[in-house]
Amino acid sequence: MEKLPCEGCKGMCCGPVPVTEQELKKIKKKIKSMPLKKRLELENQNRYYGTCIFYDLDNDKCGIYEARPEICRVFGYHKNLSCFRKPELATKDNWNAKEKHVGILSLDFTWKYFK
Ligand code: SF4
Ligand code: SF4
Repeated sequence: MEKLPCEGCKGMCCGPVPVTEQELKKIKKKIKSMPLKKRLELENQNRYYGTCIFYDLDNDKCGIYEARPEICRVFGYHKNLSCFRKPELATKDNWNAKEKHVGILSLDFTWKYFK
């Protein structure tokens, strides 16, 4: 699958996203497994207003990449989740969540929840 041109984007599309119970558990595990120094560095970064609480601005990437929610994994490749920098990659049908969402990451669930 052709890759999205995310480098240098600084998390432009990484804002509040819906999450499931299972995804929250996975993220919690990931956060708890991080070395404290790394976790604090990620938590205390100055992000743009509205940027996802896990976006690693210093390194220009998702700070919880292996544990990121499903919607982040499929972004850019579906008609209802197209990337404006490469909309031609959005060739798949509309994306529908397989499991029920329990809230919004960055809004309902902030760093406090994951520690
Ligand atoms: S998906 Fe698109 S908007 Fe999001 S970081 Fe990648 S290139 Fe940028
Ligand atoms: S979890 Fe990662 S990929 Fe998803 S919005 Fe946040 S920073 Fe972006």
